[in-house]
Amino acid sequence: MTNPLESLIKMTRALGEPAMDYVIIGEGNTSMRLDDESFLVKASGHQMQGIGESGFVAVRFAPMLAMLDDPPATLSQQKAITQAAKVDPADARSPSIEVSFHAMLLHECGVTTVGHTHPTAINQVMCSDYAADFALQRRFPDEVVLCGPQSALVPYADPGLPLALVMRDRARAYMVEYGEAPKLILLENHGMIALGDTAAEILKITAMAVKAARIFLGALLTGKPTRLPDDEVQHLYQRPDEIYRRKLFVASDSNS
Ligand SMILES: [Zn+2]
Repeated sequence: MTNPLESLIKMTRALGEPAMDYVIIGEGNTSMRLDDESFLVKASGHQMQGIGESGFVAVRFAPMLAMLDDPPATLSQQKAITQAAKVDPADARSPSIEVSFHAMLLHECGVTTVGHTHPTAINQVMCSDYAADFALQRRFPDEVVLCGPQSALVPYADPGLPLALVMRDRARAYMVEYGEAPKLILLENHGMIALGDTAAEILKITAMAVKAARIFLGALLTGKPTRLPDDEVQHLYQRPDEIYRRKLFVASDSNS
């Protein structure tokens, strides 16, 4: 089995490749579960492109989840809790500002890996009136297979704890409706999050979401985008051969 840190480094570098146009400068962050107690998350101020071991910090779940349940009044209290939540509190690095949503998603959704990026194509849609149409409808079979029957759509919130709290509500509502975690979370006026159990799955969901956004934008140029009917979406998502294909995609490292 691959070492989580190695796998996370490889995935984060792949998401940070300039040619992909998923992030620039210090944008985006990633995380991976280490065990029941702790997870790795990108450290603040590090670029995803070419990131190395020093770009990740190990954080304990318990204090982060407690902060979500009982949010402190001030930003400085939040910062103090986050710093103390590091597995090694003496570590000089700070976890990403988005560490609270990483802790929340790894815990609530039961996934092992999270990749958050700001792809240009995704944000062209998420910074428009079409965000909900794009998130809640599906347009072609492979979008359903990789990104799920719908995306969870999160309204704009201030990055950090406020965003994590709004996202928790939306993730819970999605799980009540579908009986499983979302594969793709779309953030209005912000970006996207892929959730999965392997680095390969995160890369493939991200790539397919970006392709879907490009198709949606192109369809808007040529007319009104059409959608797959809901019963067809459910049929595609539950087809045994598509489930088999999804398992192969997730296990395969070919695009990572
Ligand atoms: Zn972001």
